[in-house]
Amino acid sequence: MKIQLIPEKCIACGLCQTISNEFDYDDDGIVLLASAPASLEKEFPNQAELLLAAKSCPTKAILAD
Ligand code: SF4
Repeated sequence: MKIQLIPEKCIACGLCQTISNEFDYDDDGIVLLASAPASLEKEFPNQAELLLAAKSCPTKAILAD
């Protein structure tokens, strides 16, 4: 599955990292990928937590397909 981040939409609520530690934050609390902080998208093996994080983000700043 591909995870894509849209940092402009992130409101730094901190929810996604409580669901999956694949998510981390910059100094302003804006989402980034823990294993690829310079990238806005990455392929992952299918993981229910990633899909749940994407569905749970209140501003749809995480896309999963
Ligand atoms: S759940 Fe969404 S809005 Fe909240 S920190 Fe994660 S990406 Fe940002």
